[in-house]
Amino acid sequence: MSQSSEFRPGQPLLLRGGTVLPMDETRQVLTGADVLVVDGRIAAVGHDLEVPEGTAVIDATDGIVMPGMIDTHRHMWQTAMRGYGADWTLTQYFVWYYLESGKLFRPEDVHAGNLLAAIEAIDAGVTTVVDWSHGLQTVDHADAAVDALQSVPGRFVLAYGNIQQPPAEWTGTPEFRDFVSRRITGDDMLGFQLAFDVTGDPAFPEKPAFEVARELGVPVTTHAGVWGATGDDGIRLMHDHGFMTPETVYVHAASLSADSYHRIAATGGSVSVSTESEQSAGQGYPPTWAIRAHGIPVSLSMDTSVWWSGDLFSAMRTTLGADRSREHLQAQANGDTVTHASLRADQVVAWATRGGASALGRDDLGSLEPGKKADLVLIKNEHSPVSFPLLNPYGHVAFQAQRGDVHTVVVGGRVVKHDHRLVGVDLAAARHEIERTVEHLRSSLGEEGWLKGMNPDVPETKVLDNPYTYTDYRSGSTHGG
Ligand SMILES: [Zn+2]
Repeated sequence: MSQSSEFRPGQPLLLRGGTVLPMDETRQVLTGADVLVVDGRIAAVGHDLEVPEGTAVIDATDGIVMPGMIDTHRHMWQTAMRGYGADWTLTQYFVWYYLESGKLFRPEDVHAGNLLAAIEAIDAGVTTVVDWSHGLQTVDHADAAVDALQSVPGRFVLAYGNIQQPPAEWTGTPEFRDFVSRRITGDDMLGFQLAFDVTGDPAFPEKPAFEVARELGVPVTTHAGVWGATGDDGIRLMHDHGFMTPETVYVHAASLSADSYHRIAATGGSVSVSTESEQSAGQGYPPTWAIRAHGIPVSLSMDTSVWWSGDLFSAMRTTLGADRSREHLQAQANGDTVTHASLRADQVVAWATRGGASALGRDDLGSLEPGKKADLVLIKNEHSPVSFPLLNPYGHVAFQAQRGDVHTVVVGGRVVKHDHRLVGVDLAAARHEIERTVEHLRSSLGEEGWLKGMNPDVPETKVLDNPYTYTDYRSGSTHGG
């Protein structure tokens, strides 16, 4: 055995002596336990494991070993605008990206955003991200998106989208088909979905795009239940036409009726909850309280770094807070007192790991069990006063830990971060790309436009009725008539 920060490709790996959260069915917690990785998979989890000759050892003492986290909805291209829209509402986001400035992004700008977002993800222990990539105005943009994802040693799912065209249009081109056959090759590290929204227009203009997804055999992910944009009409159309399937991922699902939740539950789909986004942008109240009641599976997501950071610690923390906040508020409005919280810390850790795996149909990810792919995280920070005592490991992950505590990250058996440092990642090159993108956008918008963009006015358009330019449909369900 060797204790070193140099890891050879294919070398067996042992994380020794940690508090292990396998996130299996039993929710057991193992203390002083080892996790052995051989040939890219979890070989064993337990105490005092025998290891093969030449195994690299990482000391996990005083740390927590858990599955890599999975984000099921992140617009990675928008990371090039990190923090720019911190004070936006959803309406202002639509104005800036959908109606005005989203079309300024060139393929190299999508590359820059994706590259930085991908690096940010693995650094934070998010080993799988669904890149909800709706800035793909041309196939060149899509190639750039994939090039960036494939240059970073994380696991990604390209959810192909394009807010500048009707879904029926961009999914129907020969260039799109050619892209799919060239770039989506069954690579274990790169999954594929179609990403588009359903406005609720009774003409159902999105139907041909669903048919393409069905023909290609790929899941659809859709922003559903977004106040001001998508609502029950869209769910009903999808259901009536048989396009609600178990692999469909409904993002937000925050402003839907019980009828829509029943349809999602009955067809086996799952909801990607972006609590920080819902709280701040206005899609509706973070819906875990309702989704739990309907027995719909949940995964977590961060949505976009144009507002928030791309780590799932904040997603777990804020989801627990929002769920409990509503539970207390509702009880107190009735003169009651909540004595035991319904949503517990182990549940949000499960949503951040196995919940994501399940949403993506990846039963080989999301838990530390023999035979599963070795995507895992060691949370450990000897220099942090917050690292001890470690009394409630799930609570520690959800409420105490943060991205700076991510000590080691392993994806498919490969060490991509160790001792708090990324391994084999050129952050300087990513910074250079981002600088060029910011320069391009800033000079295109002009200094005044750039500053105004942080608090844009709503133009005299239909944006308050729906942000999609391919239909004039106005939904009473999202605008009170
Ligand atoms: Zn989104």
